[in-house]
Amino acid sequence: MRSSILIIYTGGTIGMKTDPDTGTLVPFDFSAIYEEFPSLKRLKVDLDVHSLTPAIDSSNVQPKNWIHLSELIREKYDSYDGFVVLHGTDTMSYTASALSFMFENLAKPVVFTGSQIPIGVLRTDGRENLITAIEIAGARDAEGHPIVPEVSLYFQNHLFRANRTTKRSAEALSAFYSYNYPPLADVGVNISYNRSLIHQPKSYDEPLQIGTRFSEGVCVIKLFPGLTEQTLRGILSIEGLKAVVLETYGAGNAPTADWFLRALEEAIARGMIILNITQCQGGAVAMDLYETGLRLQQIGVMSGYDMTIEAAVTKLMYLIGSEAPSEVVKEQLKVSLRGEFTR
Ligand code: ASP
Repeated sequence: MRSSILIIYTGGTIGMKTDPDTGTLVPFDFSAIYEEFPSLKRLKVDLDVHSLTPAIDSSNVQPKNWIHLSELIREKYDSYDGFVVLHGTDTMSYTASALSFMFENLAKPVVFTGSQIPIGVLRTDGRENLITAIEIAGARDAEGHPIVPEVSLYFQNHLFRANRTTKRSAEALSAFYSYNYPPLADVGVNISYNRSLIHQPKSYDEPLQIGTRFSEGVCVIKLFPGLTEQTLRGILSIEGLKAVVLETYGAGNAPTADWFLRALEEAIARGMIILNITQCQGGAVAMDLYETGLRLQQIGVMSGYDMTIEAAVTKLMYLIGSEAPSEVVKEQLKVSLRGEFTR
């Protein structure tokens, strides 16, 4: 059975090629994808391409772009079996994490990919990333159900749950990694799916719902030795600030100085949510391990467990944007909504 796939090009390095006359990088025309890559015809998929205009460097991505992209996918949801989103690598993990939270009842693959070298340059990594992402988006099991019906990210031989990924290198072709959750698929000669790790929907027939509101009242504070009371209080008193992702040391540890804990405690008493995630790439926050973590727990700092910064920020923006009461937001933070953390 052939699958129909919509490729959505949003911008980024993958959409560039070298102009043979001038040697400069110019946009690659994805609508001529079969002429550029005739071998695509051999895949059992029918492809359509939708290029967003203007294509943007992903450093310029804003929540309005996430909303636009999710609305496009909802609009086309019934017409395609899967979606491949081509996105700049710089903020790909943010967009993909945001979409994972926005989609309710997702039962089709949404595979993000991009490249470190433009697709129209001889040594590109984009060609393999694109072709394999298409194959994964179209893959079905014996019953005809999609094999990966969740928001995922494919890069250099690995398919990851998108909200577990982080861009780890500005140089390596294996630019993305998921430190706290194993790959959903490993790609070598064959694509080997780790089926037990892939989320399965409750139903394949529910209409796709999207939540499209994001709060701007979220920020990140990364601890470093030398952070002053003035700086901390300055940030915590910003008007409209509703939540802070606190990037702590190791297993969720922070200074035990009175001024530090008092500033956080006062902010929490004013209704601010403080979510603790670790600065380490791998591992989880465990606030009951050391005195330095326990004190945070005692004053009401919440655990972000082993969430990435991208998942923590977008989950908070999404939950607070929903305008649910603070108690509901706090309960939702304790639950893994889309497999974004392990407890
Ligand atoms: N600056 C580019 C972007 O994120 C980098 C890339 O695509 O790799 O859009």
